[in-house]
Amino acid sequence: MYKGSVTEEAREVLRAIELIQLGARMPVLEKELTLSRNRLIRLYRELKSASPPKGMLPFSADWYFTWLPNIHASLFYNIFLFLKDEAKCSRLDALTRAYRLYIEHCECAETERVLSFTRAWTLLRFFEGGLLALTRCTVCSGRFVRHARDAMKPATCCICAPPSRAGVTRAMLASRELAQGAADTADSSDTPDTPTSSSKRRGTSPLSEISEAMRDTLAEVKRAVDPKRNAAAGSSGNAAGKPTSHPFLPRSIPV
Ligand SMILES: [Zn+2]
Repeated sequence: MYKGSVTEEAREVLRAIELIQLGARMPVLEKELTLSRNRLIRLYRELKSASPPKGMLPFSADWYFTWLPNIHASLFYNIFLFLKDEAKCSRLDALTRAYRLYIEHCECAETERVLSFTRAWTLLRFFEGGLLALTRCTVCSGRFVRHARDAMKPATCCICAPPSRAGVTRAMLASRELAQGAADTADSSDTPDTPTSSSKRRGTSPLSEISEAMRDTLAEVKRAVDPKRNAAAGSSGNAAGKPTSHPFLPRSIPV
């Protein structure tokens, strides 16, 4: 049962609602608010129509050092620091407002929201615990998230020096392969069946080469085995009108 004043309790409930709407999990709510666990669970169920997820919060700081999370974490933490130090917001207000501003920024930039609210909160905890620190980039002079032990060493941020494969995701590679496959299929169905186009197609993909060769062989075998079909096909497909036979089959097969 809450022991404080009614107005303070109402404020706590409003804070809890805001945090839950932003995606805060139970350990975050329990750490930041003074409401009881049962009250928080009831609030969570009312707002999300589901029980709060179980499991541990992320505990490793390494995630913040990979290039894309590092950019998003640096952006969020710089907003947070501005709101806390310059706008004189309280820690919790600065956290929620900074996260809202971060979401707005992602929407305006039409980019994926990499930093979840839990990650943002964990980032704050790592800074408060002295595990992380901000370092000024030697190129753009922007401050970015770094391990505290490396904070004094000069370094370049991930925006100024992105890794060579930055932006290339597995999903992107898969979609590229799909697009390439679709282009190959369209190419093979649109072009007429001439020896030159066939050989060109064979050069594009080993799979199409096998299937094309198999198809040719099967057609030849059918013609060699069935003289009636062979005669009908010979009038349209074979210019000489002579029955063609597969080199590995006997010349004449008794019907
Ligand atoms: Zn930079």
